[in-house]
Amino acid sequence: MNIRFEQVSKQFSNHLAISDLNLTIQDGEFVCLLGPSGCGKTTTLMMLAGLYQPTQGNIYFGNQVVNFLEPKDRNIGMVFQSYALYPHMTVRDNIAFPLKQQKVPKKIRYERAEKTARLVRLENYLDRKPSQLSGGQQQRVALARALVKEPDLLLLDEPMSNLDARLKIEMREELRQLQKQLNITTIMVTHDQEEAMAMADRIAILDRGKIQQFDTPEHLFTNPKNMFVAHFLGNPPMNFLEGQLIQDLDGTVVEGKGYRFHLEKQVNVPNKMDVIIGIRPHDLHVVSEWKGVFSAMVTNVEHLGREKLVSSTIEGHQTIRFFVNHNQLMKFGDRIYLSPNLDAVFLFSKKTGENLL
Ligand code: ATP
Repeated sequence: MNIRFEQVSKQFSNHLAISDLNLTIQDGEFVCLLGPSGCGKTTTLMMLAGLYQPTQGNIYFGNQVVNFLEPKDRNIGMVFQSYALYPHMTVRDNIAFPLKQQKVPKKIRYERAEKTARLVRLENYLDRKPSQLSGGQQQRVALARALVKEPDLLLLDEPMSNLDARLKIEMREELRQLQKQLNITTIMVTHDQEEAMAMADRIAILDRGKIQQFDTPEHLFTNPKNMFVAHFLGNPPMNFLEGQLIQDLDGTVVEGKGYRFHLEKQVNVPNKMDVIIGIRPHDLHVVSEWKGVFSAMVTNVEHLGREKLVSSTIEGHQTIRFFVNHNQLMKFGDRIYLSPNLDAVFLFSKKTGENLL
């Protein structure tokens, strides 16, 4: 089932939580709502669930406006951050519970609970109580309970935030495979950009109640619309440096405190425009002095296994982070020279934050 938000706003007393949201989600798509705390992710999910009504605009399920449709009439499955399993019930009864509410006869609801349990590999745990399961298994019970009614739409609110890092990676693979196998339209709220990048077909990035960009993970990473999106995706985040664009006889030069270099292509903006340049940590390399664009002093080195993450400051006290190989010697106080991959330099307007390239 496809989902459409048409100029949807949600106002709480004097706070505008969602402002003029336009979004179309295709049938079978896995979409993540991603953004910092308070940006309106949960409010959006609650409107889909029917727990909040939009103040303005329309939400469509297929061709039907559902603004005032009761949650029970929506045929959606939901998994929350706290799985909220019933502790006194077995796994079988927990999974079958939504069918019991619909007064489905016992034999049929148990058959369907068992079939759904097989989907999430819980068929051998049906007689256990939630307390006798691991965190990952409990999470799968919650998922099975959300899927047992064969919903048209699956809503997930930070479903993996209670799992440890390793289990999270396993679960996100499992969940993604299951979603594709069932081809169920799925909308997941997360503030974890890695999780969103790993799982989503498309990501809607929200900030202060407004969509910043809605696109595939690859496209968001390579063509961020503005500094907010550029900074939000990528860990550690993109380096930002202040500078000015100078139109020179042989092209466009970017110049800032202690650095100056030619851009690969001519950029058609006014001479001396104030800009922010963006360079991802993996796109900076340590080079010899005469090749260096930036002269920097190492302030911190973190060992991350295969690589080291190095923080440094350049003139003007701006911080730049970059990676070096694990076996490259680097320590606090070293003077180094850095050069960026020129085809990976981003340019943003200092005034608006918009991507200029
Ligand atoms: P988090 O990641 O912290 O859960 P979020 O992106 O899900 O954040 P929302 O819960 O959607 O954010 O909240 C968006 C804004 O609306 C916040 O500023 C929040 O304080 C406000 N808000 C949410 N629910 C209500 C409510 N019932 N009454 C008043 N304000 C609310």
